[in-house]
Amino acid sequence: ELLALQRLYAWESEAPTRVALTQPMGDGTVRDFSWGELAAQVRCMAGHLQSIGIQPGDKVAILSKNCAWWLMSDLAIWMVGGVSVPLYPTLAPETIAHILKHSEARACFIGKLDGWEAMAPGVPADMTCISYALSPESARKAYPLWDTLCKAAKPLAGQPVRGGDDLATLIYTSGTTGMPKGVMHSFHNFAWALDAGIRRLPMGKDDRMLSYLPLAHVVERVLVEHGWLRTGMHVFFADSLDTFTTDMQRARPTIFFSVPRLWVKFQQAIQHKMPEPKLQRLLGLPLIGGLVRRKIQKTLGLDQARICAGGAAPMPLALLQWYSKLGIAINEGYGMTENLAVSHITVPGKNQQGSVGPAYEGVQDRIDPETGEIQMKSPAVMQGYYKAPEQTRDAFTHDGWLRTGDKGRIDSDKCLHITGRVKDLFKTGKGKYVAPAPIEDKLGDHPAIEACVVTGANLGQPLGILMLNADAAAEAQSAEGRKALEHSLAQHLAKVNATLDPHEQLQCLVVSRTPWTVENDIITPTFK
Ligand code: ATP
Ligand code: MG
Repeated sequence: ELLALQRLYAWESEAPTRVALTQPMGDGTVRDFSWGELAAQVRCMAGHLQSIGIQPGDKVAILSKNCAWWLMSDLAIWMVGGVSVPLYPTLAPETIAHILKHSEARACFIGKLDGWEAMAPGVPADMTCISYALSPESARKAYPLWDTLCKAAKPLAGQPVRGGDDLATLIYTSGTTGMPKGVMHSFHNFAWALDAGIRRLPMGKDDRMLSYLPLAHVVERVLVEHGWLRTGMHVFFADSLDTFTTDMQRARPTIFFSVPRLWVKFQQAIQHKMPEPKLQRLLGLPLIGGLVRRKIQKTLGLDQARICAGGAAPMPLALLQWYSKLGIAINEGYGMTENLAVSHITVPGKNQQGSVGPAYEGVQDRIDPETGEIQMKSPAVMQGYYKAPEQTRDAFTHDGWLRTGDKGRIDSDKCLHITGRVKDLFKTGKGKYVAPAPIEDKLGDHPAIEACVVTGANLGQPLGILMLNADAAAEAQSAEGRKALEHSLAQHLAKVNATLDPHEQLQCLVVSRTPWTVENDIITPTFK
């Protein structure tokens, strides 16, 4: 079995001119990268990395939205034996600075694709950086450019010097429950996770995927990056969420997975075009129903999709059922950074809605009889958290099972149901524990609030997420109504904070009208 990087060179010799990646250039045009071109650029960039002194085992960060260069950066780092440290471009500058320091990154790839003016936020001024931009002007010469460096570099020949159980990457978790932790994964972890995934959801050379969920997260890394290298499929990158419809139409993905939020957005777009009662009536008609179904699939760019999936957060059952009626079967998956994303997903063709399906072949799962915690063992489980032996110890049971922190049950078909979190306690950025339940009780005591949760933020103080009740949401439609509501909530927040310890005090309230569209529905982002 070839290592993933060797696959790149295998595709180079087998199909040098076949298109491997399609990159939107930000002006409506796209640029295709062939396997031959990619392999050549990776060798040049690896040569450059070696020339600036990157040694096997050195950490190199990638701070960019998804693009062709992201994948090439990872492969070039791999080629010189480095360890990649992906960073979400949307992280707070302090978090970026923290991760770069904690990981001892020796250099950083910076994708200046999102209109950054000069220095990337959070990156120290003395950091060795390599940037890519869609046009040389947009880079504003803040950092040396990929193309220039590649041209000047001596291509690195030969085979990768590391693989197997060597450390491949440090993936810092989203930090919902405290400061991000650097999850250590080996090359073998990736290879195994991909194999297990392919056994459940077969993929091959003729598949197409649209890459838009961050490559800094494990799902995209395993299925898109490693899946692409393994199968030789065609990967398209999305330009932005504003052009998502066009991106979907261009890619016509055969495999499409997403988060609940995006599936809800798609649903809203359809419902906006056709009122729900009419849609349901048409879907119920013979012949017409089929036509409507196909038309909607086409509109969404999903008419060629063989496999659809959703996860990372609960997929509401009603949402899955709504899509079923459109002939779009969404498999729900579950997993975490610590076990390379997916460990469970429903089996295509089997109706296992309401669960996250049975474990992948090779993954063992069990429920702790005392706490109800889901625990797992598999060859994709992390080596540990980087430079955090105590947290690593806490992450496993005394008999070596990964503690997920999630609560669940396993039904008679071996399907897993997620029912909540074990310990309703989280750590703030300052390392202090906060129990959200009593704060939620206080926060919820306001006439406009239907429900609320208190959760950790990446850094600093906890934050409150509110759902308004129907009356308040209706009132907030008007400018005055909204102003009055903001005022009243700000006063309420001040009153609640006055009763809390300094480390428990909420830094802001995020207001949502539905529980799963938080980011889309921020009415009042911050109350100071
Ligand atoms: P941190 O560990 O840093 O606090 P995080 O746990 O949010 O952050 P991830 O590893 O990206 O970071 O997320 C994994 C978590 O997401 C799981 O432990 C689980 O709580 C949740 N999750 C994933 N898929 C599902 C799903 N289908 N249904 C419900 N929850 C899910
Ligand atoms: Mg977690």
